Amino acid sequence: MPDRILILGGTREAAALAETLSKTADVTTSLAGRTREPAPLSGAVRSGGFGGIEGLARYLSENAITKVIDATHPFARTISANAVEACRRANVPLEVLTRPQWKELPGDDWTEVASIEAAVKALPAAARVLLALGRQHIEPFAARTDCHFVIRMVDPPEMPLSFTRHDLVLAKPSSDPDDEKRLMQHHRISHLVARNSGGDGAYAKIIAARDLGLPVIMISRIKA
Ligand code: NAP
Repeated sequence: MPDRILILGGTREAAALAETLSKTADVTTSLAGRTREPAPLSGAVRSGGFGGIEGLARYLSENAITKVIDATHPFARTISANAVEACRRANVPLEVLTRPQWKELPGDDWTEVASIEAAVKALPAAARVLLALGRQHIEPFAARTDCHFVIRMVDPPEMPLSFTRHDLVLAKPSSDPDDEKRLMQHHRISHLVARNSGGDGAYAKIIAARDLGLPVIMISRIKA
């Protein structure tokens, strides 16, 4: 019998893993269901929350899952904590895929902060800010009515944004630093706010900020 693997996904690493593992195992990738049109994945896909630890443990038993791989984003804390407990309860081995954090390199100008709230406070008056954060994390920045924000999202917002001054860019982040530089220059960005996600996929904006000599407010990782 091939392994029946559940990948907790939503990242590029999870997609790459699904492609490799589905050649030899029965693979299902689980997505939270936030993105309207997720990119196609190898193997089976399920979407939406499980209903907490209990729901995930039940899913593992009912679907005879033999292994779980947590390949979620480093800032997705709840699902990772739920996976630990659900796997323990269902007696299913759990593997956790961790990305190394980005490190500040020569030419970088980072202010490292521990939270979104600290990032809001760290911005200087009248900054023109590229907010490279998920939509669920941008709201606290609306309090900075003195700043201009460039907000990038994959899908359009369901509700109008409550920012005094902002530009909405509907696009995925580019993996080409030159594209990210053009975006920053076009919007006359003075500061980048980003989270220390690690990995290659989202690093282009960090290179772009370095090349342009722009300060970065870097929100530290909260999961190892
Ligand atoms: P989170 O706070 O850890 O999870 C919140 C709830 O969403 C979980 O309790 C779970 O609901 C559901 N959920 C999360 N990931 C799921 C998955 N892969 N499959 C099924 N249900 C899932 O997570 P988040 O920060 O909102 O991120 C949601 C998803 O987006 C993650 O899969 C993550 O890999 C991806 N993602 C997140 C970020 C980010 O910045 N956080 C960036 C890129 C991609 P139930 O309790 O009902 O099971």
